[in-house]
Amino acid sequence: MIVVMKIGAPEAEITRLTEEFSSWNLNSEKIVGKHKVVIGLVGDTVDMDPLQIQESSPWIEQVLRVEKPYKRTSREYRHGEASEVIVPTPNGAVAFGEHHPLVVVAGPCSVENEAMIVETARRVKAAGAQFLRGGAFKPRTSPYAFQGHGESALGLLAAAREATGLGIITELMDAADLEIVGEVADVIQIGARNMHNFSLLKKVGAQDKPIVLKRGMSATIEEWLMAAEYLLAAGNPNVILCERGIRTFDNKYARNTLDLSVIPVLRSLTHLPIMIDPSHGTGRSEYVPSMAMAAIAAGTDSLMIEVHPNPKKALSDGPQSLTPERFDRLMQELSVIGKATGRWFAEPATVGV
Ligand code: PEP
Ligand code: MN
Repeated sequence: MIVVMKIGAPEAEITRLTEEFSSWNLNSEKIVGKHKVVIGLVGDTVDMDPLQIQESSPWIEQVLRVEKPYKRTSREYRHGEASEVIVPTPNGAVAFGEHHPLVVVAGPCSVENEAMIVETARRVKAAGAQFLRGGAFKPRTSPYAFQGHGESALGLLAAAREATGLGIITELMDAADLEIVGEVADVIQIGARNMHNFSLLKKVGAQDKPIVLKRGMSATIEEWLMAAEYLLAAGNPNVILCERGIRTFDNKYARNTLDLSVIPVLRSLTHLPIMIDPSHGTGRSEYVPSMAMAAIAAGTDSLMIEVHPNPKKALSDGPQSLTPERFDRLMQELSVIGKATGRWFAEPATVGV
């Protein structure tokens, strides 16, 4: 249920209402929008009468039921307003969201050694990326495949951060690593294979770092939004949804089917920022540029692109990784579409801290 306050509602009245709602066993969350304050109510509201709530204050404009199974994640919960995820990085704060410029995240699938991660970071930064991605802990289909260098790779990501000031996005697979990953990551990634790992979601949702939640390989949009709901319900509102391709009947020519229709669909269902990963979405570097351009045209807030200094030698996901040279060109190509849609960043692509 959401309680929309009238413009100018006094702070003391909002506090009084919050206390009253809590005496009814409802959790309230105050959401300050551009024009109005909305109080999101979560709890057992099924038998509650919106009119009765409305009568509890003359400052209440409207009480609305959120009909969707996901509540905090739904667009209604913020009365239609988009949320933004602001991430402090050494180069300044970067904002993800519908009303902000496109944010580009780039880097290798896995962190392989210091020279390659620092070189890749320098190259992607020079091309215009704001975040470096790179896995220390890798979820691999085969237990015999390279699993990532683990904790030591986190130190290498820290070195790349130090060298470039880029924000770091890296995956957390096991809640036991939350502390060490959180020390280096500016944004914690939950990978496709863990989207349904609810105990991990509860733990990562209870910490403060922003989270990229990848869509499970066979997850419906509603399952994905319910997974995001776990994060928001655990207390972390800073969630970015990343589409990375889904399993469909045909994987002969592309690794996955990149579902770009999620962009307008998510836009209507949720206030959360959207990221598109055309690298895992297609599995082939030659298809990445077209899908990245299409994603911008469709209104994505962010892109995640795998870049490797020598894709042929990559320890994971080489076939879908761009060379730094191809990434340079791609950024030029993307700028044309980004400018046309009004989403290209002015240098530097940051907001004031
Ligand atoms: C990755 O980002 O390298 C990765 C493993 O992604 P996903 O979880 O989408 O497969
Ligand atoms: Mn990868």
